[in-house]
Amino acid sequence: MTHTRFEVTETDCVGCGLCEKRAPENLRIPPGRSAATVVKQPEGAAETEACHEAADYCPMGALHALEPEAATKTAVSR
Ligand code: SF4
Repeated sequence: MTHTRFEVTETDCVGCGLCEKRAPENLRIPPGRSAATVVKQPEGAAETEACHEAADYCPMGALHALEPEAATKTAVSR
């Protein structure tokens, strides 16, 4: 089963840490960095839901869910 993938637009991220709190398995602000990153794409319904919640709570709209088709197109585009 394909789960929704997520990405952070680092230029929009202010490093508030809300997403990290919502989805600690998947989102993190690496040491020494000021923007969040997706450390692991969600696996299973619980992680996927946590990432959707994190995206909803992101005050900057910097965390995005990618539709499976879009992620596939991105992966194969040159
Ligand atoms: S919630 Fe949004 S602005 Fe805050 S650290 Fe996460 S991606 Fe960045």
